[in-house]
Amino acid sequence: MENWKPKTKLVHAGAKRSQFGELSEAMFLTQGFVYDSPEQAEARFIENTPDEFIYGRYGNPTVRMFEERMMALEGAGDAFGTATGMAAVSGTLFSILRAGDHIVSSKALFGSCLFVIDDILRRWGIEVTLVDGTDLDQWRDAMQPNTKVCFLEAISNPTLEVSDISGVAGIAHAGGALLVVDNVFATPVFQRTLELGADIVVYSATKHIDGQGRCLGGIVLGTKEFIQDTFIPFNKHTGPSMSPFNAWVMLKGLETLALRCEAQADTAQKVVDALRGHEKVARLLFPTDDAHPQCELARRQMTKGGTVISFEVKGGKEAAFRVLNALNIVILSNNLGDAKSLATHPVTTTHKNLAPEARAAAGITDGLIRFSVGLEDADDLIEDWLGALSQA
Ligand SMILES: *Cc1c(COP(=O)(O)O)cnc(C)c1O
Repeated sequence: MENWKPKTKLVHAGAKRSQFGELSEAMFLTQGFVYDSPEQAEARFIENTPDEFIYGRYGNPTVRMFEERMMALEGAGDAFGTATGMAAVSGTLFSILRAGDHIVSSKALFGSCLFVIDDILRRWGIEVTLVDGTDLDQWRDAMQPNTKVCFLEAISNPTLEVSDISGVAGIAHAGGALLVVDNVFATPVFQRTLELGADIVVYSATKHIDGQGRCLGGIVLGTKEFIQDTFIPFNKHTGPSMSPFNAWVMLKGLETLALRCEAQADTAQKVVDALRGHEKVARLLFPTDDAHPQCELARRQMTKGGTVISFEVKGGKEAAFRVLNALNIVILSNNLGDAKSLATHPVTTTHKNLAPEARAAAGITDGLIRFSVGLEDADDLIEDWLGALSQA
């Protein structure tokens, strides 16, 4: 299995069949597990192997199939499925850090990630330094003897800044810290994040992995030692474990993940080509596009530019709202990675709580629109945007 290509792993890795030989992965909707004897129960509580289960909060066969498929794809030693992406991010940080430790994080973060790091961690006596994630000197200068974690989103939301994973990993490791990467925007299809040097990769499976807007989920991937000795003891006692139903939906999502992400990325490139130089568009952001300030780094780290485009409409919020109101196919929603194309206005939704100065510094302007490219025909989407932009 280790030599299989990613698309083969996405369909087959981790699948285990019961005595009935079912074709589709079984959904084990059970809270607990039974034992043949007290001796067997005793043994299982002493040494719990990945194929033996005790209680749903600790693990479940359907969830394990999802974890093993993701481990094979990502090249990780172990993994643990969580209830949401935020349970994966927060559980990772809470399980590593304790009072007196220090974390360095990129400041270009998903709103909830920023709240966990900049608010909750500080409240618990953890020192926090926020840096410009694209500037390796700032990472280097921020390191302290008590730095335990460096955290970043491989591609930031919504301005699609690209962080140099190998560069930051080198700085983290020189200081004895772990690099944790939230890889949602880069997807497991386009970027080999552990091979680039990250120690731990986290996903919101809610996004591309489900990809059809149904379930929440998350996953943490890292070494066997980290997952078993650090993450699981924290998570199994605090409780945000993944539902077996959601794991089953995610397993089905993984079967088509590469097909969907590649089609969405190809369409994204076509939309970028159609919007480039448009008289109503002040700024167009797509990681691998020539005009992106870090396009060389993006091309080095990723096989395609991802499935999200951001662009600034001239005329600020009013113009952006006129464009969004004029869309016929693209739906207004703050989700992303879905089969349906989705657009959002970050300033008034996802990034509403950011201070205006911080928003301006991050380039999140009043005219900015984030577009998550779906599986519709590229020509229809281009026509929808060109028609809407004529209303700007
Ligand atoms: C959506 C998202 C999360 C949180 O995931 P949930 O499943 O909604 O908890 C974390 N990080 C990034 C980059 C995201 O896009």
